[in-house]
Amino acid sequence: MDFFLQRGPFRDLYEKVVSGTRLNDDDALRLFRTTDLNALCAIADFANRRRNGLRASYIVNRYINYSNYCILSCQFCAFSRKKRDNDGFQLSAEQMVEKAREALSLGITELHIVGGLHPSLPFSYYTGFLRALKSLDARLQLKCFTAVEILHLAWLAKKTVRDTLLELKEAGLEALTGGGAEIFQKEVRSKIALGKESAEEYLNVHRTWHQLGGRSTCTLLYGHVESLEDRIDHLRRLRELQDETKGFTGFIPLPYQPDNNGLPVKHAPSGYDMLRTIAVSRLYLDNFDHITAYWVGMGLKMAQVALSHGADDLHGTIIEEYIFHMAGAKSPQMTAQKELVKAIREAGREPIQRNTFYEPIESISSPVTV
Ligand code: SF4
Repeated sequence: MDFFLQRGPFRDLYEKVVSGTRLNDDDALRLFRTTDLNALCAIADFANRRRNGLRASYIVNRYINYSNYCILSCQFCAFSRKKRDNDGFQLSAEQMVEKAREALSLGITELHIVGGLHPSLPFSYYTGFLRALKSLDARLQLKCFTAVEILHLAWLAKKTVRDTLLELKEAGLEALTGGGAEIFQKEVRSKIALGKESAEEYLNVHRTWHQLGGRSTCTLLYGHVESLEDRIDHLRRLRELQDETKGFTGFIPLPYQPDNNGLPVKHAPSGYDMLRTIAVSRLYLDNFDHITAYWVGMGLKMAQVALSHGADDLHGTIIEEYIFHMAGAKSPQMTAQKELVKAIREAGREPIQRNTFYEPIESISSPVTV
């Protein structure tokens, strides 16, 4: 491997990585454009192993979407519904507690909760379900809301983003999700998510949360109408905020799902595109500890392969997923813990169950009990 790295087409970039010299945008573009996936994989795997060894993590979690009603109509979104639609839903706090209670018996340590921008639910609905869920088990970590939901809740609460986050934190919010970053480049963002918050607003919500001591993940939606330069622009802005706050725990590239929405894109990203995006992310985001291969979007088999292309995390058991599946994802609704462990072991890595903050937690044979 060393011979390959030292003699391969990216010898200069390998030397940069070894010496801790940051890759620039031209380097990232060169890596994105390569057809030599093996050479790219070798250097990304080197960077990942140096940071994370052979460890690869997963989380035992459950998704809950509290509602799919949304006042916006992002072109790429297959999840949102209007009140006139007959397949819209909204859950009461009691229904969410019931879902959480069932999932706790399966050993989950995290609830991941997002929804649309609901037209009429009051702010107290959100603080109410956070409190109800947290009271089930103090160890249950609540990772909730995208940046645009936080802006919506701030508008509902008639408070600043900072004060809204403080109130949500006091009610039980422990981490923000990374969803909704989509692509930051302004014109492309308008083409796929007109009306959604700007890149600056997305980054500012996360900045404010980090300044309050909170942690969050972040994402990139790729494989639609963006260019490779747009992807790099997106990564650069995330890297800059991470330099400033160090508040991101991990980065999750999300392959676009093309079904049931208003964007004319024929195919989901290819396997090659998924792997090169993971690899370039690992190399360019030198201030991020973790890169997640999101099996819901990639499929578990491809996510497993990504563990040798720079990823060190497979995300979680999920249990119930709507957003990607309504847009055409063919992966199953959930993956059992033992399947994630098996996938990691087969890839030659050491499975580590983690918490919301990517910290190792108790062994898989000791599920959380209630
Ligand atoms: Fe609403 Fe989010 Fe869908 Fe946009 S992506 S329409 S904000 S649910």
